[in-house]
Amino acid sequence: MDKDKELSKLKKKILKFNKNFPNKNLVFADGNKNSQVMIIGEAPGKTEDKLKKPFVGRAGKLLDELLNRIHLDRTKVYITNVVNYRPNKNRKPTPKEINEFKKLLFKHIEIIKPKFLLLLGATAATAVLNHEGPLSAVRGKWKNVKIINSYFDVITTFHPAFLLRQNDKKNLAAYDFSRLRNKIKNLNS
Ligand code: URA
Repeated sequence: MDKDKELSKLKKKILKFNKNFPNKNLVFADGNKNSQVMIIGEAPGKTEDKLKKPFVGRAGKLLDELLNRIHLDRTKVYITNVVNYRPNKNRKPTPKEINEFKKLLFKHIEIIKPKFLLLLGATAATAVLNHEGPLSAVRGKWKNVKIINSYFDVITTFHPAFLLRQNDKKNLAAYDFSRLRNKIKNLNS
């Protein structure tokens, strides 16, 4: 089956979860479905829910800036979230929600089949790496992770919404993005 068909099948599955998020829109993904880089955030915020696209609010602008620094943009990466609906009142997704959406996220990763995963923040690290505890334990480290039947190189960095509050951590995030850039360069050289 081709990617478009598989993606629309997955979208239909995720639409069934709409009942758990009354009056919220499905925020599925943005970017290039054939990219080598898949970026995974937490869950949509207010602007994302309204525009039905991930990372289009203030955190999204910062993500774009970090991507631009390594000569990437939304035409060159694929972006999604662990949870595809905005939790009420901007709360964090619950462990139950993360667990439910994790299966769908893994299917999403299998369909896109990128070379690299960039995880933004703790929720994505919990879903993909089963990581609990401080983000510093996994941040900036490459890990080779099996998802369904394939292996992916995965790096974790700070969530851009956190960086908006902790400006002094932006350099560390820029460093993590530069390491992603190096991996892409090595792949293409
Ligand atoms: N934060 C996220 O984790 N995802 C978005 O799409 C927007 C903000």
